[in-house]
Amino acid sequence: HGLGGVAAAAPDAGPGPAWQSKCPWGAPSTTSISCSLADVMSEQLAKELQLEEENAAFPEVVAAAEGPFITGENIDTSSDLMLAQMLQMEFDREYDAQLRREEKKINGDSKVSISFENYRKVHPYDSDSSEDEVDWQDTRHDPYRADKPTTTPRRGFIGKGKDITTKHDEVVCGRKNTARMENFAPEFQVGDGIGMDLKLSNQVFNALKQHAYSEERRSARLHEKKEHSTAEKAVDPKTRLLLYKMVNSGMLETITGCISTGKESVVFHAYGGNSATEDKVIPPECAIKVFKTTLNEFKNRDKYIKDDYRFKDRFSKLNPRKIIRMWAEKEMHNLTRMQNAGIPCPQVVILKKHVLVMSFIGQDQVPAPKLKDVTLSSEDMKKAYYQILNMMQQLYRECNLVHADLSEYNMLWHDGKVWLIDVSQSVEPTHPHGLEFLFRDCRNVSQFFQKGGVAEALNERELFNAVSGLNITADNEVDFQAEIEALEKMNEDHVQNHGKKLSTFSSDGDPPIYDE
Ligand code: ADP
Ligand code: MN
Repeated sequence: HGLGGVAAAAPDAGPGPAWQSKCPWGAPSTTSISCSLADVMSEQLAKELQLEEENAAFPEVVAAAEGPFITGENIDTSSDLMLAQMLQMEFDREYDAQLRREEKKINGDSKVSISFENYRKVHPYDSDSSEDEVDWQDTRHDPYRADKPTTTPRRGFIGKGKDITTKHDEVVCGRKNTARMENFAPEFQVGDGIGMDLKLSNQVFNALKQHAYSEERRSARLHEKKEHSTAEKAVDPKTRLLLYKMVNSGMLETITGCISTGKESVVFHAYGGNSATEDKVIPPECAIKVFKTTLNEFKNRDKYIKDDYRFKDRFSKLNPRKIIRMWAEKEMHNLTRMQNAGIPCPQVVILKKHVLVMSFIGQDQVPAPKLKDVTLSSEDMKKAYYQILNMMQQLYRECNLVHADLSEYNMLWHDGKVWLIDVSQSVEPTHPHGLEFLFRDCRNVSQFFQKGGVAEALNERELFNAVSGLNITADNEVDFQAEIEALEKMNEDHVQNHGKKLSTFSSDGDPPIYDE
């Protein structure tokens, strides 16, 4: 009875496929009106005998379903509505799985596909339900911690003598359990059990709780997916096509969602696939940086690339769309240089137009925190500082690069060390503004670590000299900056007069290496 009522309460699925009649519980067509819990329960009272019959048959059905909610032989049949709801959910799940199979069969590998989406049941499940059962124990929103209709003190009982009521009392527990159902996710319909003094056994409650969690998580994930697909819509159709191609080719397994949306780029997370065409190994997790093709965002960054001699010749000939691609290309080249020098940074996987795929810094879809967001012990802070000092020197000397946007925003803390990211704007030191960029980087780093309590941290001028190997002696910022600009001008004049840039600013030996 309960099952029929609930099945009918599910929204009409419309003209479902033929296999529907093969459902283990028969087609849900016995009743056409939806029932409230109150209706069902009062009917139960009226037709007690008939119900007992059905109740007797019920555990069998449960056993046949082999759902995750089976807790033992003695299923509490007074809560058959709840059980029926659980069964219904299981049924819906199977229904949807079958629907997906039908959909697949019909569509085959046709380019135009028909979606059965609208025939889906109340819970539009995603395909992998298996992991649900593992992590339902999550206690962040434990209903046990929420409101209690009757409180049992710590000692575990109320009352005196033979009127004593322990917290294990069936009736009290049952009511409590019923009330706790209120704490399940709002989408999980529990009916009006409280209003009618429904007593839920611990066994049934626990099964329900577990089930409610599964459903909550499922719907949370679904939400996530929805949000992600919205983020996907934030990229233009051409970019989406590029991304889909990467998935279709098997290079990527799935694009799970958006990690960051900045002014100049959108970064997605993806699981790497097993590409047959690429001979290099795709990292298990990837970050996809999509450079935005809304062109005006890049206007104020012109100087980074226009004056970079590596791109100078090409720049004038290019249309704005291609300039965006050059940003992606620049990031790729810079990352490769860094990789070769052994600097911790994302590894380039592939570049397609304005879309750069690289290895993901982080784990299980969670990106490593930026240095600005992580709280390090003073020991780690010191370690991070020396590591960055080293990296800046390597970047300058081995990669012949200045990061040009170095700060706690573009350094990630992962695996006990600092990783450099976001190097699309990085330039060679002899870039007309290269030394100014370096000085700015030094200021950011120096200030961050001085504020962070690293006593050993050099000030920005000392750091600049340590990285560049130059020996600028000015003891104040204004003079220091003036000397930097003089050096840059000297280089420009050299280009004017000799048609080529200076190979390096420093000619008096290697800079001192700072290390622990
Ligand atoms: P933007 O120019 O928008 O700042 P970033 O390269 O700094 O671009 O990327 C934006 C954010 O995306 C970063 O702050 C970081 O949180 C995340 N991110 C970028 N690349 C990766 C990566 N390879 N692994 C993990 N997270 C990344
Ligand atoms: Mn950044």
